[in-house]
Amino acid sequence: MVKSNTMNGEAAKSLENRLVGIRRELHQEPELSNEEFETTRKIKRWLQEADIEVLDLPDLKTGVIAQIGTGKEPIMALRADIDALPIEEEADVPFRSKFAGKMHACGHDFHTTVALGAAYLLKEKEHELQGTVRIVFQPAEETGHGARDVMNSGGLEGVSVIFGLHNAPELEVGELGSCEGAITAGVDRFEILIRGIGAHAATPEKGTDAIVAASQIVMALQTISSRRVSALDAVVVSVTRISGGNTWNVLPGTVELEGTVRTLDVEVQQRIPETIRQIIEGIGASAGVSAELKWYPGPLATINDAYWARFALDTAKESGFITKVVGPSMGGEDFSYYLQQIPGAFVNVGSGSPYALHHPKFEPDEAALLPAAKFYERLAVRCLNELNAR
Ligand SMILES: [Zn+2]
Ligand SMILES: [Zn+2]
Repeated sequence: MVKSNTMNGEAAKSLENRLVGIRRELHQEPELSNEEFETTRKIKRWLQEADIEVLDLPDLKTGVIAQIGTGKEPIMALRADIDALPIEEEADVPFRSKFAGKMHACGHDFHTTVALGAAYLLKEKEHELQGTVRIVFQPAEETGHGARDVMNSGGLEGVSVIFGLHNAPELEVGELGSCEGAITAGVDRFEILIRGIGAHAATPEKGTDAIVAASQIVMALQTISSRRVSALDAVVVSVTRISGGNTWNVLPGTVELEGTVRTLDVEVQQRIPETIRQIIEGIGASAGVSAELKWYPGPLATINDAYWARFALDTAKESGFITKVVGPSMGGEDFSYYLQQIPGAFVNVGSGSPYALHHPKFEPDEAALLPAAKFYERLAVRCLNELNAR
């Protein structure tokens, strides 16, 4: 159970009610990546109602960065993501999404609310802060580009440490997990275009069969993790789409494959496209077809700084959480862009949802909102104290 810290019971209850209201309002009106215009307006309004400064960042089309404290260094940042997913909600709640085919199925409404809660708590003790806290409401996490847009907006200039959080359905409310090193995977996407020569299905020898070549490629790609990369390095190669042919008696001239590669180590990640190329070109040559790889690099693995990961876990313990060391997930998170340039850590806060992230019935427990906001607040205060003591 999470202990309440300095707030009295009544103030805590009133803040909790406010946060639940905010979360439900966000939940009902989800907006997809880079379309978070209304969400941005709401966040700005909620910040300005509490007299919290909002940075003027013309390059940030959606998303907000708030600032609390002295306005001087040291500066630390807390991040929340704000976008929703193209999923039709099936959760049985009275505040269900009003927009067909859009849903906060990853809990970014939860994260936004937690960061707002932390902002309110920090604003109350602004005069005590030994530096500046920037609270980043980041757009477009789901498409993997929002963090880069935030970095390019200039809103993180001078930031020495950054923290991010994601709700974790597999953890109970009151549990918080993190780890040193990789916590989420590098996420790349690929397409492979196989060009053969179409033929009558009865006379395959008169063409070159793209379907058989594609089948061999799908199987051979699985040898990357078992034969081409050390057993100690994690790699997942998943082919998620095969498109080719449109009837039963014609061999098509082309087949397309699409899929994703997940890795925890940047060096391994960088080797994979060349390995795929070798495999598909070799199979292509033996099958008499051409095979072309299109590689779409996505976020790198999120690598937690060891010191700040421990610091976040210690802060969580102080805030009354049960802390856990959680293993890396093969899912992706564009928080990795920040950690490539700014030290910090990413943590998972238990949300006790019976359904997983991105599930149409995903529903985080709102009892997790206030404790997570208090944790974020304490993390900011402790972090500034720590930076001042250096
Ligand atoms: Zn997601
Ligand atoms: Zn998410």
